[in-house]
Amino acid sequence: MRVYLDNNATTIVDPHVFAAMEPFFVQKYGNPNSLHQFASDTHKPLKEAMQKIYAGIGASNEDSVVVTSCATESNNWVFKSIYFEYIVTGRKNHIIVSEVEHPSIIASAKFLETLGCKVTYLPINHEGIVEADTVRDFITDKTALVSIMWVNNETGAIFPIEEIAQICAEKGVLFHTDAVQAIGKLPVDVSTVPIDYLTISAHKFHGPKGVGALYMRKNKELTPLFHGGAQMGGFRSGTLNVAGIVGMGKAIEAAIDGLDFEISEVRELRDRLEDALLDLPDTFVVTPREKRVANTILVSFRGIEGEAMLWDLNRAGIGASTGSACASEDLESNPVMEAIGADADLAHTAIRFSLSRYTTSEEIDYVIDVVKEAVVRLRGISSSYAYAPEGHSDGLDVKSH
Ligand code: PLP
Repeated sequence: MRVYLDNNATTIVDPHVFAAMEPFFVQKYGNPNSLHQFASDTHKPLKEAMQKIYAGIGASNEDSVVVTSCATESNNWVFKSIYFEYIVTGRKNHIIVSEVEHPSIIASAKFLETLGCKVTYLPINHEGIVEADTVRDFITDKTALVSIMWVNNETGAIFPIEEIAQICAEKGVLFHTDAVQAIGKLPVDVSTVPIDYLTISAHKFHGPKGVGALYMRKNKELTPLFHGGAQMGGFRSGTLNVAGIVGMGKAIEAAIDGLDFEISEVRELRDRLEDALLDLPDTFVVTPREKRVANTILVSFRGIEGEAMLWDLNRAGIGASTGSACASEDLESNPVMEAIGADADLAHTAIRFSLSRYTTSEEIDYVIDVVKEAVVRLRGISSSYAYAPEGHSDGLDVKSH
């Protein structure tokens, strides 16, 4: 059996999404900016897809949703534009992020530090969550931007974005959220939350890879990074990725339609898996279930290196993860576990299982059996587990949930 439980890294393309995209390769391939019938074949589908993307996040027609190549591009755009508009001009010199943002945010922030920008990396609490009050505490009159993700990709922890956005609005500071892991997992509506910029990526919600977007509130438009033919309202030049845009439109519509299924059926499967994992001795999950999206578990098995567990799972046909996909080629410990303050042993033992609406009950039964066997095998050959003192602490300040 092959079981894919790495949906926070990427997702299978919904077959309906694939079908909607297919005509835009061989049949309808005109450049939408050209002035002939080949071009006009694409106008209506493009417009409909953009409407679905706007509707999917509650954007108004006066706001801008700019299609990009991925969330990494959207996140980089925000930071580099803020640099051009505020930092280099000397108007402001400070940015706030959380210490558990995706590398596309952390690396952008570190790059701006090399150019003289000050960056505050906000801590997370013992449940793996950024507390809104910490944001308030660190904002100064020199703060140009606060950027906090909506949902953490490692733990599935939901951050208090409504509250944080409100604090930023009150203080007059621009607020960006990386909502990549939130779409299709919880309601995302910029008409009710004062978010200035929001990042999404189609391949995280059963759309194609290589297409994402940046939402910009009216009057908060950023300086473009790509200058050229003035596509996307002049905000991002480059010939439009018609198939990708059509795919993202269809995928976001399906993700919103599937929200109820996600928070009922997917949650039920996730909880069954989690209950079985936590029944095993010395296993821990940091963020409480009610503070997490429905599809994610980050679980630590004391005494078992994450990579060793992945190896056993992979041999049995199961795809899971030890950290963000971008970091999985080096054997670093899980960054969120480190940020929480887990001891070094435990930080190396975290495994992420992330489900999707395509995960089945049979798959979960199979995974439970494989994990149980792997835990016995790997603890049997683990020196750190064998020599751990009786009744050792969990290595965290929290108990398992
Ligand atoms: N932000 C978060 C929270 C993510 O989980 C990811 C993907 O792992 C990204 C950004 C980057 O997405 P993309 O692959 O579209 O650049």
